[in-house]
Amino acid sequence: MAMIVGLTGGIASGKSTVSKMLKQKGYTIIDADIAAREVVNIGEDAYFQIIKDFGEDILLEDRSLDRKKLGSIVFHNRDKRLLLNNIVHPAVRKYMLTKKDEAINGGKQTVIMDIPLLFESQLTYMVDRTILVYVEPPIQLARLMERNQLSKEDALARIQSQMPLDEKVKLADAVINNNTELNNTKYQLETIIKKWKLQP
Ligand code: ATP
Repeated sequence: MAMIVGLTGGIASGKSTVSKMLKQKGYTIIDADIAAREVVNIGEDAYFQIIKDFGEDILLEDRSLDRKKLGSIVFHNRDKRLLLNNIVHPAVRKYMLTKKDEAINGGKQTVIMDIPLLFESQLTYMVDRTILVYVEPPIQLARLMERNQLSKEDALARIQSQMPLDEKVKLADAVINNNTELNNTKYQLETIIKKWKLQP
């Protein structure tokens, strides 16, 4: 039986860093952020539905979606945000489940579902076990400010818009503490791999 592992974290907690480590070890990663881009490509069902609901004004010259414009529309309007989520979220779930089935049919023993909002979006039903990449709040703040060149205020606003990492710790099956150097993070990952007997 294949094992489906949900990998999650908080903004700038190090989820992508751990995801890269898993990829280097040969694991199949299905990335929700990539899925969210793929499902709105020109010609996809969600693409046509978005044009129907938001109008051709949200297209760029090459007829691809103006993601920035769409982002700013839904950021300021809750109803439109729900409307967009109701188009994109089911498409993302379908895409990810299809990719997972393909990987399993291709003989993969473990599939990693990299999902930033795994807990917030109640997607744990899609996975067998969950790994949370954790950092302490001050380190999370410092790394986010550095990576995105944000002021303290803007970085805090982004962190506070998510479920606190301490809450996520209670929901996860395993926690990787990414406070210190990367070797330590890798060691914790390898411990989970051994404990759960995860084979690529
Ligand atoms: P997001 O979901 O916001 O994209 P993320 O959880 O995937 O973020 P990363 O991009 O992996 O987080 O890491 C955030 C930043 O912190 C990056 O600039 C990364 O290089 C750095 N970083 C990650 N882990 C460590 C570490 N152990 N030590 C120092 N820097 C780190």
